[in-house]
Amino acid sequence: MLTGPQISADTVTDSATPNLANNWTQTRQRIASAASQSGRLCDSVKLLAISKGHPASAIRALAALGQHDFGENYLQEALPKLQELQDLQLTWHYTGQLQGNKTRAVAEHFDWVHTLDRERIALRLNEQRPHYAPPLNICVQVSLAPEAGKGGVPPEEVSSLAQKVAALPKLKLRGLMCIPPPRDTFDEQRSLFEQLVACQRQLLDAGLAVDTLSMGMSADLEAAVAAGATWVRIGTALFGERPKK
Ligand SMILES: *Cc1c(COP(=O)(O)O)cnc(C)c1O
Repeated sequence: MLTGPQISADTVTDSATPNLANNWTQTRQRIASAASQSGRLCDSVKLLAISKGHPASAIRALAALGQHDFGENYLQEALPKLQELQDLQLTWHYTGQLQGNKTRAVAEHFDWVHTLDRERIALRLNEQRPHYAPPLNICVQVSLAPEAGKGGVPPEEVSSLAQKVAALPKLKLRGLMCIPPPRDTFDEQRSLFEQLVACQRQLLDAGLAVDTLSMGMSADLEAAVAAGATWVRIGTALFGERPKK
């Protein structure tokens, strides 16, 4: 986690990307210290930079520091950025809500989807994944509280959707993802994340080889790491506030 090229802050800090190097270092320190506090190796938690709302130049600057994985939520915004950054060997994660008419571009341009919550979408992604590409990595999104209203299947439906994904040849079931509603305390945050861990245990018991828990954002990454996150998805703490849409 804490390896990677050391580039001094002033190499990348320009007016478009204030504090990016500091933010990146601090975020990785937050992850490392949360991991060590729960007795985990810090490289068991990976940092996914959520770059929605920020320009390709900011992504390029973060990539120059050594950041390799980026997440985008809106295809219309993401596709030109992916195009512009083609010369970099980045791994792209789709972290937005997925409509049927958007699946082809996701299947063609992304390496991961974190937000799968419908069988129909899984079938389309499987069909549209190019033959030359490796299977698309998939996390099933779980809705841990109905108030969240950001997609996801309820916990009792996770297992059946996961089984269906696991059976599709151009998809690779990797694990589970959640966007829990905001909670004020560490303990409340962690107990929500532990519900995702319980869902993962059900899949493991059913013989599905899932190794991924995508959970934790800028405000709750410590609780997510304590509960067992393998990807934390961080936007604001890296890039600063997103411009209002
Ligand atoms: C925007 C977003 C994030 C990042 O949230 P921050 O609070 O800015 O860190 C993480 N995951 C998903 C799915 C998002 O849409």
